[in-house]
Amino acid sequence: MTESAIRIVSIYPTLLGTYGDGGNVLALRHRARLHGLAEAVHEVSPGDPVPTDADLYVIGGGEDTAQVAAANALRADGGLQQAAERGAAILAICAGYQLIGTEFPDNLGRPAPGVGVIDIRTDRLPQRAVGELIAKPSQFAPSGLTDYFTGYENHAGATHLGDGVRPLASVESGIGNGDGTEGAIAGRTIGTYLHGPCLARNPQIADQLLSWVTDRELVEIIEDDVVALRAERLDYVARNSSRRS
Ligand code: GLN
Repeated sequence: MTESAIRIVSIYPTLLGTYGDGGNVLALRHRARLHGLAEAVHEVSPGDPVPTDADLYVIGGGEDTAQVAAANALRADGGLQQAAERGAAILAICAGYQLIGTEFPDNLGRPAPGVGVIDIRTDRLPQRAVGELIAKPSQFAPSGLTDYFTGYENHAGATHLGDGVRPLASVESGIGNGDGTEGAIAGRTIGTYLHGPCLARNPQIADQLLSWVTDRELVEIIEDDVVALRAERLDYVARNSSRRS
């Protein structure tokens, strides 16, 4: 790891990595390379200590039981909480999003304790949310996030944002947090229900995270294959307009 490399920690990819969420780390590496930024990725398995001094922490989604195990291991470890207090950036997807909050439902629907790095609480949706999710960046999203967010959601949780936590987006199609909003932003923490992987479909979010951790504004780099992927997914939702929101 060179002195100036961006230190990225991939948290429990063996436990939390549904729907290609591991691709978020690949997308971050790719975008960093495009911007000429050096990066180094450290994968942490349950039981290994979570480094407290990294720049960016990435957590994926997972099944209910894996989610409870991950939350318990992270709470016991304490490293993520310390990093969050230091102001490190965090990207958390679906189960990862729920477990960085204070509480989420376990496999039997009972409240399980989260890690508590942001003030959000998750309980059950009346019905599982499965399908494409499109959301528009909210007024609280950083100014570099201008494009619609696109992703795939599959979760049973409804997430409620506490004081100081703002919605990342408003739902155009799909369910998101369950109240018309999608995801959360608090300081340098972004939580979202977007799989896809999220950063492959929404490179503006990758660039925002890289911009935070480097304290630089990054130039806009548009890739044709990403434009095509996004257009295909947005068009798919428009054509199958059984809009669920
Ligand atoms: N287990 C959580 C839920 O169903 C998260 C699922 C996921 O990460 N895809 O709400």
